[in-house]
Amino acid sequence: MKTPIFAQLPPTFVTQDFTQIFLACFALTLGIRLWLKRRHIRFIASHREQVPVEFAERITLDSHRRAADYTIDRNKAAVLGIAIDAGLLLALTLGGGLAALHAFWAPRLDGLFYGLAMIFSLMLISGLVDLPLSLYRQFVIEARHGFNRMTLGLFFADLLKQSLLGALIGAPVILAVLWLMGAMGDLWWLYVWLFWSAFNLLLMFVYPTWIAPLFNKFVPLEEGDMKARVEALLARCGFRSSGLFVMDGSKRSSHGNAYFTGFGDNKRIVFFDTLLTRLDPPEVEAVLAHELGHFRRRHVAKRLVMMFAGSLTFLWLLGQLIDAPWFYAGLGVDAQNTALALILFFLVMPVFTFPLTPLMSTLSRRHEFEADAYAAEHAAADDLIRALVKLYRDNAATLTPDPLHSLFYDSHPPAAQRIAHLQQQGSRS
Ligand SMILES: [Zn+2]
Repeated sequence: MKTPIFAQLPPTFVTQDFTQIFLACFALTLGIRLWLKRRHIRFIASHREQVPVEFAERITLDSHRRAADYTIDRNKAAVLGIAIDAGLLLALTLGGGLAALHAFWAPRLDGLFYGLAMIFSLMLISGLVDLPLSLYRQFVIEARHGFNRMTLGLFFADLLKQSLLGALIGAPVILAVLWLMGAMGDLWWLYVWLFWSAFNLLLMFVYPTWIAPLFNKFVPLEEGDMKARVEALLARCGFRSSGLFVMDGSKRSSHGNAYFTGFGDNKRIVFFDTLLTRLDPPEVEAVLAHELGHFRRRHVAKRLVMMFAGSLTFLWLLGQLIDAPWFYAGLGVDAQNTALALILFFLVMPVFTFPLTPLMSTLSRRHEFEADAYAAEHAAADDLIRALVKLYRDNAATLTPDPLHSLFYDSHPPAAQRIAHLQQQGSRS
């Protein structure tokens, strides 16, 4: 029972085979991702000159074109991002990047601190590689379409704060994980999972009160029509929260949103100031009813359970791989230790888990329909439709996504489908 399953592979299964399997999956995943992006961009471009009939009365041709141009710009940047990530992955693994990092740190540091240095170096490298594209997204694309409210100063202040916070919280967590991996014997993956799950729950609990205020200001929602409506809705839905807040989202972007954070009695409802200025009170109420629907239909709890089940599966799998020499050598590293195992595993995992993407997206879209149905029951379907149209228009979200791209990636169903469902529910009630 103690023999890891991969130790039973035939001796003919060697390093080269694993390298070939990795490269084949890598090429296939990369090809599909680029192909879907190309389809999406072409589809939107070819529908740029015509507002879909369902929206002809609500969206002007100008808004429609603006959404098309914005979405195309963003997706072109996404193509660049996919190419950069793919290049970095190859450079780190078969290109010898990780082997070089190991050669640098191994003579200088031992044990846990070697591991910490390896993981932090890697985060620094990928952060630096991603930086130009992040700047381009924020200060070229978002700015060109009128959404950017950030200054370069704020961008780098955010980056500095995030990095410090990441190091402060990340270092002890990484040290604890590496220690558990080394000290807990064959069942280390179970101990790491318990620790990781507890850490995540704690983080979710403290995030609204301790972490989010480092980046934004939160003020209680003002007394008035809006607050009265929101409170009546919460009472109607039997929902308790520890506060209604308005966040200064306009500090960074003019995109609008509303969300819940925390759980248990520490739940907060947060409205972006940009949402409140655009929607009238009945529309805000409908949007909030949709968010409440996610709680009432247990989507939040289900997502948590899936997250924990997923991390258990992956850690178990890593437990099976950690002693297999071909796992390291097949990915271009000629050394073997816990830090390298963690790094390699999380670097290459997305190549193999790509087929899960459309499954997760489908599940998410089903949850969106359920939340919409809940909103139609507890608020007015018409108000939600008006809010959705406004949000699509103001956020320049496309009404004409490529159907296959949407099937694969979209967490929310296309606007036309959502509205059609809501109209049915609205006419029923
Ligand atoms: Zn939703």
